[in-house]
Amino acid sequence: MQQINCPVCEIKIGSDNSIKIYTDKADNQNYKLYHCDNCDLEFWNPRKIAPDFYIDQAGGLYDIRHDIGFKEPPYWTNTFFVFFKKNNPNLNLRDLSLLDIGCGEGSFIKKVKTDFKKVSGIDFDKKSVFVGQQNNLDCQALSLSVAATEMKEKFDVFSFFEVLEHQEDVKGFFDNLKVLGNNNFFILGTMPNRNRITANLQHNTDTGDFPPHHFIWWSAQSLKFALEKYGFDNIVIETYGDLSLAYIASCLESMMLGSVTSKLKDKIKKIFTKKELKDYSNAMTVEELGKFGNDKKNDLILKILKFVKNLPFYLPAMLFKKNFERENANLYFEARYKKHLNG
Ligand SMILES: [Zn+2]
Repeated sequence: MQQINCPVCEIKIGSDNSIKIYTDKADNQNYKLYHCDNCDLEFWNPRKIAPDFYIDQAGGLYDIRHDIGFKEPPYWTNTFFVFFKKNNPNLNLRDLSLLDIGCGEGSFIKKVKTDFKKVSGIDFDKKSVFVGQQNNLDCQALSLSVAATEMKEKFDVFSFFEVLEHQEDVKGFFDNLKVLGNNNFFILGTMPNRNRITANLQHNTDTGDFPPHHFIWWSAQSLKFALEKYGFDNIVIETYGDLSLAYIASCLESMMLGSVTSKLKDKIKKIFTKKELKDYSNAMTVEELGKFGNDKKNDLILKILKFVKNLPFYLPAMLFKKNFERENANLYFEARYKKHLNG
């Protein structure tokens, strides 16, 4: 039997021992999911990032990123304030430089610009980076591996939010950080938590967690294993998430009625969206449309309609949530690397 290596602990797994098979409809590619009993990682094979994949993505959230950028960084970047700043009160961020990997149009570096001496970002999505540059942010369209060979500058802190699950080569990712990092450097970021209570709900309603989007399904245990293996210390791992009743109710609604109501929902949403935003209405949630300045009256109508639509699902959502003490959609991590300790 053919064998494949776990991308983190490198132990061999028989290629017939996959636990799930997934076919990506866009290119008819078959992917197999493996579970590593040694380090608890789950990973898909084959793993191949297409650099143009995100640039060529049309529609949905990508149009927003490529045209106007998000108003606020995604909720998981709040972990910087919730955990990193609180956990490191003696760290003088004003003396440190930050590189945000997978910066998109730079909404996070814009928000923390005044916290650090200098903030920069890289992302291989040229269109998003262009939007960031238009906003006077220091971002470049580079992959991490190209940055590691071309950038002369060294950094003190690396942030990478929702990035590690996309990697084809986990070890290579951390090797590149060590090239770009100063003698002491810090990392922080987030990723989807494989053991989140909404995993099955999400897998039934969209393909975003599958390849070629996500190649690695991390758990807290496999993440800790990886960070220790790559020489990091002061490791902190926390769960974080946005598990509101409204969110669960809307997940349940799309799971039960999604195929019936989705077209109607899109139509109604478009009617109550102001002209400048109509092109994006399908890709944005009602709340996002409000943040982007949808008219007050339309905003209220959409919010009421959404609430009424999801109302029958609030009771099952409450039962669902009752069993779980803590929101756990994402894993937050932070750690330190000391070059002199690791040669
Ligand atoms: Zn492993």
